[in-house]
Amino acid sequence: MLVLEYKVKGKQQQYRAIDEAIKTTQFIRNKAIRYWMDAPKEMKVDKIALNNYSTALRKEFRFVKDLNSMACQSATERAWLSIARFYDNCKSKKPGKKGFPRFQKDNRSVEYKTSGWSLHPTKRRITFTDKKDIGEVKLLGKWEIHTYPVKFIKRVRLVRKADGYYCQFAVDIEGKHESRTADGELGLDVGLEFFYSDSNGHHEENPRFLRKAEKAIKQAQRQIYKKEKGKNNRRKARRRYAKKHLRVNRQRNEHALRLARCVCKANALVAYENLNVKGMVKNHRLAKSINDVAWSLFRRWLEYFARKFNTTVVAVNPRMTSQKCSDCGAIVKKSLSTRTHKCNCGCELQRDVNAAINILNLARQARDGQSRSNATGLVTSTLVGESLLEQVTRKNVESPCL
Ligand SMILES: [Zn+2]
Repeated sequence: MLVLEYKVKGKQQQYRAIDEAIKTTQFIRNKAIRYWMDAPKEMKVDKIALNNYSTALRKEFRFVKDLNSMACQSATERAWLSIARFYDNCKSKKPGKKGFPRFQKDNRSVEYKTSGWSLHPTKRRITFTDKKDIGEVKLLGKWEIHTYPVKFIKRVRLVRKADGYYCQFAVDIEGKHESRTADGELGLDVGLEFFYSDSNGHHEENPRFLRKAEKAIKQAQRQIYKKEKGKNNRRKARRRYAKKHLRVNRQRNEHALRLARCVCKANALVAYENLNVKGMVKNHRLAKSINDVAWSLFRRWLEYFARKFNTTVVAVNPRMTSQKCSDCGAIVKKSLSTRTHKCNCGCELQRDVNAAINILNLARQARDGQSRSNATGLVTSTLVGESLLEQVTRKNVESPCL
């Protein structure tokens, strides 16, 4: 799925109507969670049961009925997503919190599927046809939604962000098949110095815009607290801060997407370290760079493009990958500040490149041994299309609320 995003231009009363639809979505989602929680043990509440429940809610509440029926289903599907995620975490015995579904208070979007809206045949305008009375709004942006047949548009989502309302189209472009251009094998090592270093000796620079933006964001944040509470100026400062945040999130996403696409398009096997990013962010010294490099975002896009280009992406256990010699296997102790790997066998490599080669070797071993045994230290990726869309959007709306 490709997501095309436009800014929405409408009248105040139309924005209020969008807010109302967003509120209804949250209501349905939370009702569905409650329904699942309260269901007797012997009753199986699955995706279909929740779907049926949305029909029941439509009979009960007028304002639910006003929302397009497929949009109501989308709302219960959201509930199902968080329930399913919880079940998966329990099943895979994920350490720590299992993420028991919670009631949402800050929903910012409503999602239509293939009905409840119609695109203007020539102009960039969309009309929402259900009884929420959003009506026709203008779409501002450079993407050309008209270049895709309407039947390719699977979802239309209205999102409230810091600087206004946006309309996102999820377009199914898998039909437009694009194939991999090469069958390379690549190991990636996340460093502090670079965004990543690969097993071919290439270093991908850290995006500087993030460092710069970070400073600006911090400054904007301080401004908020200098203004008096509840006053207009404070609200304005808040908005400035949120806008800056939003901009960085977009840049970060685009950067991760672009890189992940290149990597998957040229390689049949991609290996990376299965870093516990959550654990690492706790480590203060590393926190900045880990957040900066947006590693987890990159990882998600890797999964996405892996599926698209039929690339095998594996996460390997990073233990010893930086200490081991990628040539002879000897352990060469080094501290974080040692930048070169120098082994008695004559192997001399930049530290991260040595690690990247080790990572690739681990992945190869795992791949070759997989038929014989269930390789240890190998984690196969599970994220796929639909949930990715969900997650990426969540990332997008993560910027602070107004
Ligand atoms: Zn060696």
